[in-house]
Order: sequence, then structure tokens, then C-alpha cells
Amino acid sequence: MIFAGAALLAVFLLFVIFPNLRKTWYLPKRSGFVALMYHHIGPAEPDNKQAPFTISPDMLEQHLLFLKEKGYTPVSLKDLQTGTPVKKPVMLTFDDGHADNYDNLFPLLQKYQVPAVIFLITDKVGTEGYLTWEQIRQMLESGLVEFGSHTCSHRRLRSLPDEEIARELTRSKQLLEEKLGRPVTAFCYPFGAGGFDKRVRTQVFKAGYKFDFSTKKGVNPWPWKGKSTLRRAFPRGGETLFDYYLQLTRGQSKL
Ligand SMILES: [Zn+2]
Repeated sequence: MIFAGAALLAVFLLFVIFPNLRKTWYLPKRSGFVALMYHHIGPAEPDNKQAPFTISPDMLEQHLLFLKEKGYTPVSLKDLQTGTPVKKPVMLTFDDGHADNYDNLFPLLQKYQVPAVIFLITDKVGTEGYLTWEQIRQMLESGLVEFGSHTCSHRRLRSLPDEEIARELTRSKQLLEEKLGRPVTAFCYPFGAGGFDKRVRTQVFKAGYKFDFSTKKGVNPWPWKGKSTLRRAFPRGGETLFDYYLQLTRGQSKL
């Protein structure tokens, strides 16, 4: 018992002294489909709660160049549906529909002609700090950005009664389809892995979605068969390009 405690303490101290030990470089490389989860694209905010969720435009550009250099193929929801055979498929997904996605992300997508998926909270569209319908329309018309639902109000679905869940799923889908003029096939759970369970997931498919994106970390099979939720890798603000390499090859940069 004492030995086990000492061993644990030793491992803990090692992690503190050598933070790189916590990184996933020693895990075997995984091949397959990597869905990357981003939120804000804007100036780094070191002391802010949003810091891990904010990637600077410079770093995002480095990510895009890295993907290009390493032979990754950025794919769209259409590619996911058809299972198009491509080399090293990767998808850029952006949660919440922040206004900075238009200001800072969209120009980079255009510069490098890379597709992306943005998950919108429909009640937030047009409110302060979020995308407007006009910006969404412009991004859609570029052919580079597809949109999915992130519910109406961004509540933890698992804690809601069935009827409320159904409303969050179908109302957001209907409104997006009406505004975008095309089917909305992708859904993304608020609060990631803790935000849903089997009951919620069943309703997602009942509402007519084909793909459910979670924050479970990891690499997905390609072509995608849809048996489980889609895992996503989460590049955080402040991480290096080496971390990004780990995200792409191990589905996570840290344990
Ligand atoms: Zn969210």
C-alpha cells in the first residue's frame, strides 16, 4: 500500500517536472478520420476561461499549412456521407457559431480553399458575439462552409425531459433548413461527452440527423459507418504544432 502510494506520487512528480510525459507521443499512431474541434478563432486570451477554446488566426493558418504539407485531405459532410476514398481524411469543425468564425476563419478557408463545418446554436444567431444569418448565408454560398445544429439553446440535453430534447433537436433543424434551403444532417452535443446518453442519442436520429459529433477524443474509422458518436480531437489555444501532430495521429495531445 505504501509502495503503491509512493509510486503514484513519483509518477505525479514526474508529470509535474516533465510535462511532456503527459503527452501522447508514446501511444501507437492511429490512422482513420480525424474530426478536429475548434471554437473561437481570434487573438489568444492567456488569462481567460476561453483560452483553451481560442486559437489565433496565425496558429490556425499554421494548422492548415501543416495539413497540406503532411498530405491530409480536408473533407466535407458530403464526403462523410459518401465515404469518398481519400488519403488521411480530416474535418475542421467549429462549435457555437461565434462571430469571429466569419471575421477570422472564413478568410483562411477561402485562402486555402478548405471546407469546414460550423455547428450553430439557433437562438444565438444574430445576437452579440455570434454569426448573423447574412454572414451564414455568405459562408454557405462560398461552397466551403456547411452548417449543423448545436441545439436551440445550448443546454445539457441529458438533464432535459424527452419533449424538451425533441424540441431542441427538431426546432433547430427546421429553422436551419428553412434559412439555409438545404437538409441539415449533422448534430453536435453541447457539453460534449457529459451532455448526452443513449436516450438523447436515440432522439438525435429520430429527429432525422445522420451524424452526431461528440467530444469523445480519438480517431474515427473511414468510411464512417455511424455505429457510435463521432469522436473529435481538440486542439487547444496555447498548444504547439507538435501537439497538433499528436492530435492528428493519436486523436489527443495529452492524457
Ligand atoms: Zn458548444
